[in-house]
Parts: sequence; structure tokens; C-alpha cells
Amino acid sequence: MIKTILQAKQKQKPARQNLGISGEKVLRKQAIEVPVIEIKTQKIKNVLKEMSAALNSQDDGVALAAPQIGYSLRIFVVSGKIFAPDFARVRAAKILAEEEPSETLQKKEKIKDLVFINPKISKLSREKEWVPEGCLSVRWLYGKTLRSKKATVIAYDENGKKFTRGASGFLAQIFQHETDHLEGILFIDHAKDIKEELPAK
Ligand SMILES: [Zn+2]
Repeated sequence: MIKTILQAKQKQKPARQNLGISGEKVLRKQAIEVPVIEIKTQKIKNVLKEMSAALNSQDDGVALAAPQIGYSLRIFVVSGKIFAPDFARVRAAKILAEEEPSETLQKKEKIKDLVFINPKISKLSREKEWVPEGCLSVRWLYGKTLRSKKATVIAYDENGKKFTRGASGFLAQIFQHETDHLEGILFIDHAKDIKEELPAK
């Protein structure tokens, strides 16, 4: 019931105000695979560029799926900043609502964003945990979702090369959140304890 209300509310106040999203319809559609021979075309290069720009325009953005900026394509990008050595520490401090450390992330050394084209989750651990979650397209709601602790994704990179990436913890959660986007699923569809948390100005 609460969820229904929140979703109705979401419809009046979609996230496009943050990301210039072209419509909620795309967010709710199953996205389309990119033909492998098209991966290196200018069209896809431009989409990837736009995705990284949108992602990096959001301080709290860690990953973005193509439907979030209006492209119904099976692509997601993970921000390189989550691989920064101090990312886990800063994130933990934020979750515990402790004071934010004075130095900020990603300014020192830019780590390349990771591109996943036509991603498929090939493995999910049976072991799951409730983890805090939010979404750039569902401002400013946060909740807890039940996610597998480990996940493996098979995808193509921006050069059309197939690769496999296993992850645990936060990156495994990102894999699950982003592949959900490609199916038109948002975290609020299955999260619990959903609440609104406006950003500190
Ligand atoms: Zn999202």
C-alpha cells in the first residue's frame, strides 16, 4: 500500500529533473540488446559519453543504465570512483550518518568508468542480505533491498570485447540494480523501509 502511494508520488515528480531523463516510459521498458557489430559505432560511443557525463554530474552517482537517460539499450556504466581506495571508507561514514571526511573522492586520480554492454548475470550467490539502496531516477527515495552477496556478469566492453566480472558486496549490488533497470524494474518495486531523504544543501 505504502509502496503504491510512493510510486504514485514518483509519477508526479520524476527524476528527469536531475538527469534530463526523457520519460518514465523508457525506464519501465525492457531495454534492447546492442548488436555486437554496432558497439564501436559513433552512435554507441555517443551514448556511452552521455552516460558517463550524466553519471559524473551526480555526486552520489555510482552507476547508470542507458534507460535512465532515455535510451532503451542494454548498457550500464559503473563509475570508476567506486574503485578509489578511500571510497568504501567514505561510503561507510555516509551510511552511518557520520560527518563526511573533509577530503573528497575521485578528485585525485580519475579511474575509468566501467562499461557493460548486453550484460547478463551468469551467477548469483544464494546468500542474500538487506542493503541500503537508492537510485538517480528515483529521487530522493531510499530503502533496503534484498540482494545476493555475490554476482557475476558477462558483458561486452566499449571495444566489443566480451568479459566476465565477478563481484561481491557493493559492486554485486550495483550489478543487480543496473540489470534490473534493463528489465524495467526499479528498486522501489521490491524495497522495504522506503523513505525520502532530501540532500543536504
Ligand atoms: Zn537506478
